[in-house]
Amino acid sequence: MNRRKFLTILGSAGAASALGTAGAAKAAGGTHTWPYYENSYGVLHDTTRCIGCRRCEEGCNKANGLPRPDKPFDDLSALDERRRMTPTAWTVVNKYELDDKPVFRKLQCFHCNDPACASACFAKCFQKQPDGSVTYDGSQCVGCRYCMVACPFYVPSFEYNDAWDPLVQKCTFCEPRLKEGKLPGCVDACPMDALTFGRRSDLIKVARARIKANPGKYADYIYGEWDAGGTAWMVLAPSASAVADEKHPLAETGHEFKALGLDTHLGNRPMGELTAGALGAVPMIVAFWPVLFGGAYAISKRRDALHKAETEAVIKEARDDMANAMDAAVRKIAETQGPGVADTARQAMAEVLKTREEACANCGHHGEDK
Ligand code: SF4
Ligand code: SF4
Ligand code: SF4
Repeated sequence: MNRRKFLTILGSAGAASALGTAGAAKAAGGTHTWPYYENSYGVLHDTTRCIGCRRCEEGCNKANGLPRPDKPFDDLSALDERRRMTPTAWTVVNKYELDDKPVFRKLQCFHCNDPACASACFAKCFQKQPDGSVTYDGSQCVGCRYCMVACPFYVPSFEYNDAWDPLVQKCTFCEPRLKEGKLPGCVDACPMDALTFGRRSDLIKVARARIKANPGKYADYIYGEWDAGGTAWMVLAPSASAVADEKHPLAETGHEFKALGLDTHLGNRPMGELTAGALGAVPMIVAFWPVLFGGAYAISKRRDALHKAETEAVIKEARDDMANAMDAAVRKIAETQGPGVADTARQAMAEVLKTREEACANCGHHGEDK
């Protein structure tokens, strides 16, 4: 199930279930789940200046002490394939084609004004900070990966290879550096001034001034000013020839941005509105959370104290308890929210359970503090 289908099913179910409530009234008016911080920072990526040198990737790697990649940063053959962010590469630069010319775009977290990742996270790991960054604190992360499903930009990545305590990873906007009055590592490293850091409100003025002062150079749009409810990181694209064929996939407003791999159908409403609706539709999952937690904890705790055979019996018993509780929860969701939501809830619970069991089975550490 892709994220749009997931959000559509849950969002519409949430809206339906909330009809006549204050929640529905708020949604109809465009709900912002976070305050808008007037003085927050942002970054403008001017893709007309970007040369695809990967220095920003290197700057991010150094600033955040990430492991070195397989391909060194001066190896530009990395741009031959379209890459996504990973737990150890919080930003990547990709190459696109516009009017048969290469255009490079840097990918990282957009630090949304209303972050869908934050709205989807039961454990409240994500916070929109007044400086504009969307930060992640993994200490309460349960590994459900709802943030990954919710993010419209496919940003958060998960440490699947970490058997001990896999966490979500993403660009932090170099929040610790911002606090010290330093530029983000990537911005500091860019030799082309393709990344401009500043107050978001000033960056919008800068972007408009560039578009106005250079007729024909830029597409007349600032990606992120309004998209997905507005983002701290924004993008300027070069203008490109209009596409004559109306059936051509790029023959529409914003085709330059679409050509750069940006989603031009997110709309201007905050994405958090949709994911908050999703959570409202499946309150049973939230209510059920402690059962899942408690079950996994009981398995690991009791496993320590018992012999192997007894342990297996306890695990089976705990699993059966959880399976029964999950079935009861899903039946209740099916009655109140319909079978589609119940299926999604069942899938989500099974995923959580699997992740936690795998973590417990592989960590080798079953003490009280686990
Ligand atoms: S360092 Fe600057 S010019 Fe080089 S790829 Fe990154 S954004 Fe583009
Ligand atoms: S881009 Fe994705 S991960 Fe970043 S703040 Fe927005 S929703 Fe969250
Ligand atoms: S802001 Fe910091 S964490 Fe984000 S891409 Fe730039 S260097 Fe990396």
